[in-house]
Parts: sequence; structure tokens; C-alpha cells
Amino acid sequence: MTDKLAWIDEELANLKETGFYNTIPTMDSPQGASVVINGKRVLNFCANNYLGLANHPRLVEAATQAMQKYGVGPGAVRSIAGTMTLHLELEKRMAEFKRVEAAITFQSGFNANIATIPALVGKEDAIFSDELNHASIIDGSRLSGAKIHRYAHCDPADLRRVIQEAAGTYRRGLIISDGVFSMDGDYAPLDKLVEVAKEFDLMTMVDDAHGEGVLGEGGRGIVDHFKLHGQVDVEVGTFSKAFGVMGGVVAGNAKITEWLRQRGRPFLFSSAVTVPDTAACLAAVDLLEESTELVDRLWANARFFQAEMKKMGFDTGKTQTPITPVMLGDVQLARQFSRELLDEGVFAGALGFPTVPKGKARIRVMISAAHSQDDLEQALDAFDRVGKRLGKGQ
Ligand SMILES: *Cc1c(COP(=O)(O)O)cnc(C)c1O
Repeated sequence: MTDKLAWIDEELANLKETGFYNTIPTMDSPQGASVVINGKRVLNFCANNYLGLANHPRLVEAATQAMQKYGVGPGAVRSIAGTMTLHLELEKRMAEFKRVEAAITFQSGFNANIATIPALVGKEDAIFSDELNHASIIDGSRLSGAKIHRYAHCDPADLRRVIQEAAGTYRRGLIISDGVFSMDGDYAPLDKLVEVAKEFDLMTMVDDAHGEGVLGEGGRGIVDHFKLHGQVDVEVGTFSKAFGVMGGVVAGNAKITEWLRQRGRPFLFSSAVTVPDTAACLAAVDLLEESTELVDRLWANARFFQAEMKKMGFDTGKTQTPITPVMLGDVQLARQFSRELLDEGVFAGALGFPTVPKGKARIRVMISAAHSQDDLEQALDAFDRVGKRLGKGQ
């Protein structure tokens, strides 16, 4: 009998030969300014834990108390018997935090996109999508059956051109963009995209996974940053990055959140996030509403680190946020750089094709409010030493 799965061996061998096999690092500690990898404590510059909330005592305490009161699981999909007062409370608090009409939560940011896009557009419709949009937007768009028109990255003029070309071919149209783009750290010109949407009477959606807790007043996100409240129909967010937990959210127009409660398939056919997740998210909103301290520290850390890297001669690309790409070009060099940083006690991952374009390999340094000045200085020293060894930097 032949092995029906032999093709997987071949594919895996091929990935290993071509250097695209992904070896997953494993931590044996909470997420924080440092983590334990292979038994060694190293400074952590890999996580999306922007505000250090993933192991914040207030979140841990809220999760623990909620479990004492409500147990662990939601018990069913939300539309049947899985909605708890905690879920509704989180939605109310998120709408207030985002200064919009309403919010609905999902199991993840990925699911929020998979739920929202097919609920808004179908086969007769059109999606206008930034060419660098996140995989979950691409998958949600494909699932919708709508025709997908890609426009040049963060380019409102090209968006206008693409819309004009598609004129007359669709019933409804939806413009979708990432808020912050996670590979380069740049963000969408949302004010310009909204202008184009008004001109052509299109719906607008922004996925602010990396902007929530980061951009805007006290981390209220990209819509708040551009003061576009009420003008962006759908703002997708995640609780898995700056919020430090797990879950997704759609905030914006109340008609849309009501529609998603009726027609969002991951809402109707998959159970809600658990009790401790939900309670921890509520504690994260409390923290963000109480003070801008963590968000301010995140930005101060990012500005310091990026300025020092530039002084040392490193190219940090076109970032506008705490995401700090260190452009190295060659993928082998980037991997070598990352390995040597780890030897120096600094965990910062290399990204190469197909995650980023060929020849644009980089180390991506994720800055957090959890990092102390000393942590940042240690990382800068490590970059300096490795850079000198490998002939990068000054
Ligand atoms: C991380 C990310 C997601 C997925 O969020 P999860 O909550 O982890 O599923 C979706 N969209 C963008 C733009 C992201 O960066």
C-alpha cells in the first residue's frame, strides 16, 4: 500500500531545503520584558505585548476572580446559551472606550475578519483591499465571494483609480485596510481613505490589530488617532496584542454590530471566549481608561530605541509606530543576526520571504512598555556588537 501522506514528507523536506521551514521557539515563562527559552532567560523583543498586559497582576486577578464566580467556559455558542453578562459588559465598555456607537466581540481578530467581511459583501459586490493587508482580511474577503480589487499599499490615488476602473461592475463596495501594517510599522492614511469612500459612497473597514492600545488618545486606536469617530463603518480589533489576552472585537456603526449578531458565522457557530479571557479584557480596558501611563511609556521607549538605532547606523525602514524593523536585506544575514542576538541574550526574530518581499529581510524589534531603560540599553549594546561582527550598522 502506498503512503497517501508521502506528499507531506516531500513538501516538508522541500521547505527545509529552501530555508522556509518554520521552527517555533517555545517559552517556559510568562510573556514579559524577558522570557525563558531553552532554559535561558533572554530579553524579549518578539511579542505583540505592547503594554506588558499579558502577565499584568490586575488582569490575572480579574481572571481568577471571574472564574471563582462564573467558572471557565461559556457552555455554548453565544446566540444559543453562551452569552454572559461579562461578554455584554466588555462590548459596552469597548464601544465607550472607542467612542463609537456599539461593539461586538469575537474569539479572535482573525475570526472578527472572517465574520465581518462575508456579512457585509457577497458575490455581486466589490472589495477594495490594500495589497499588504493581513492574511485574515484576505481569507475573509475570499470567503465572501466578492470580487477583490487590490490597490497599491497606502496609496489613496491608486485606490481611486481602482474604484473608477471597477465602476458599474458591483452592487455594494467595501474599502478594507490594515490600520498599522505589522511588517513595516507604517499606518494607513485613513483620513484619505475615508475621503475616497465618501466620494464613491463605499463602506469602510479598518483592521486595527496593531493600533489598538498603541495609537490614538490613551491607545484608542487609529480611528481616534485621525479623529474619524462615526466615519469608519467597521473597526476590527484584537485583544491578543496590546490588550495582552485573546479575542477579537468589531466596533463602529450599531447597525453593523446588530447585523453581525444575526449573520456573523463565527459568532453563530463557534463558542465565545472564556470567562477568564473576558474578565481579563475588562481589566485591560479599566487600566487603559484610568491612565495613559503605559501607552506613554511604550512610545517613549520606542522613540528612544529607534533614535539610538539610527545613531548606530541601522536602517529602521518607514516605521511610524513602536514596531521597529531593522532592515538587513539578505535573509541568511537576518537569520544569522537573530541567532547571534539570542546568544547575546536578546530574542528578536528574523523575517524573510514570503512574510516580507525578497531582498527585504529584517529583524523585527517589538518594543513594549514592559521594557525598562536598562533592557533597552542592553538590547542596543547587543545590536551594536552583533552589527560590528556582521558588518552592519556603523
Ligand atoms: C494579529 C492580527 C490579526 C489576528 O488577531 P488574533 O486576535 O491574534 O486572531 C488580525 N489582523 C491583523 C492586522 C493582525 O495583525
